[in-house]
Amino acid sequence: MYYPIKIPRWLQSFFPNYIWRGKTEANSKRLYLTFDDGPIPEITPWVLEQLRAYDAKATFFCVGENVQKNQAIYQQIIAEGHQVGNHTFKHLNGWSTTKADYLDNVAACGEQVDSLLFRPPYGRLKWGQAKALRANYKMVLWEILAGDFDASISGEQCWQNVCKNATDGSIVVLHDSQKSWKHLSYVLPKLLEYYHNKGFTFEVISTK
Ligand SMILES: [Zn+2]
Repeated sequence: MYYPIKIPRWLQSFFPNYIWRGKTEANSKRLYLTFDDGPIPEITPWVLEQLRAYDAKATFFCVGENVQKNQAIYQQIIAEGHQVGNHTFKHLNGWSTTKADYLDNVAACGEQVDSLLFRPPYGRLKWGQAKALRANYKMVLWEILAGDFDASISGEQCWQNVCKNATDGSIVVLHDSQKSWKHLSYVLPKLLEYYHNKGFTFEVISTK
């Protein structure tokens, strides 16, 4: 499986309609953690607990059907000051979905997730889908893919993917999913401790 760990700035700049990095200022130290595909009872409350210990805020790109099933956890995410974003109702792959079906699915998620942020599952969208969604959403991609979903790498490699690459302003993708649990449970505590000790804060992606 190939995927780029870090999206280079020059490539980001080719797609200015997407958000790749969070806001920064001179000498700021900020990371923008994002958790995709939840919320689920097995993982998301644990993630919230880890974040709470560092007063860290994050952005959760929620799958609509998970929010429907796990309302209390969704409400907890919001109550604890995190940001949420739309990640479609059924985690659709835009490349294999018609525009009409895709937009319907985003709208169905929108009934569960009240947010102006959207992240396409797998980062995959067709041009027409993207154009239509831009009218209503801020489109959020990422700079760093930890690879927590990748069973072919070790937890340590996953951690190295983050700590060798994430710098001020980086949006980092992690997953509150069963598939990613093995690596997430190793990486998230390390990540929070390491960057906290370096003076970083963890912030939500702004909807403005
Ligand atoms: Zn996803």
